[in-house]
Amino acid sequence: MSKPDIATLVKLQEAETQIVRLNDVLHEVEKKKIKLASRLKQFAAALKENTEELERLEKNCIDSENEIKIVDARIIKSNETLRNVTTNKEYQVLLREVDDNKKRKDALETELLQIMEEREKSQAVVDESTKEYQQLEEQIKAEQNQIEEQTTKDRKLLEEYLKSQKEIGVSLDPKLLDRFKRISKMNQGSAVANVQDQVCLGCFMNIPPQLYIEVQRGNQLILCPQCSRILYYDKS
Ligand SMILES: [Zn+2]
Repeated sequence: MSKPDIATLVKLQEAETQIVRLNDVLHEVEKKKIKLASRLKQFAAALKENTEELERLEKNCIDSENEIKIVDARIIKSNETLRNVTTNKEYQVLLREVDDNKKRKDALETELLQIMEEREKSQAVVDESTKEYQQLEEQIKAEQNQIEEQTTKDRKLLEEYLKSQKEIGVSLDPKLLDRFKRISKMNQGSAVANVQDQVCLGCFMNIPPQLYIEVQRGNQLILCPQCSRILYYDKS
């Protein structure tokens, strides 16, 4: 076998490492984007619930006020009729009717006060959560913009590394490239490892002294006995 082009393999490994890293980063970014959007959505749902509660209380208030108006009208009408009655019996019946309606009005007014108090509290909750929602929305939007900016940079970088990976791949012996790909697949994108002081920096295991000498010579392709990575020695 001819002398392997270790320098090219190292370059290919650099591209491969960056591609794996950038793919991971971009994947994490997607997850983060989904998480941010879901947080805002959750908050929007809570705000909607609070708003609906306020609307319900507002409707209750109007209903209660209308009922009071109706009872009031009844009282006025009964009082008018009272002036024209002739018999004592009729008079007693109408008097009781007025009395009953007044009691009903009192009860309704007490109820209305309670509803108004609840409405006021509900309004405060809606105001507060609207403010919080707007702040969160602003914050999330800023975060998303920042992510988008970084993502654009990372995608561009990834494109560059993919291009370089392709170019280097074409320049390599197909058999060697195939081997590289197989080892890379076994080790999550890491096919080439530096050796220092007899230690493979891919798996951090010691390699036999004789093998170390051969790696330093660089005359043939040496694989790590433990992790099968292509080993190289960096003189610098
Ligand atoms: Zn190793």
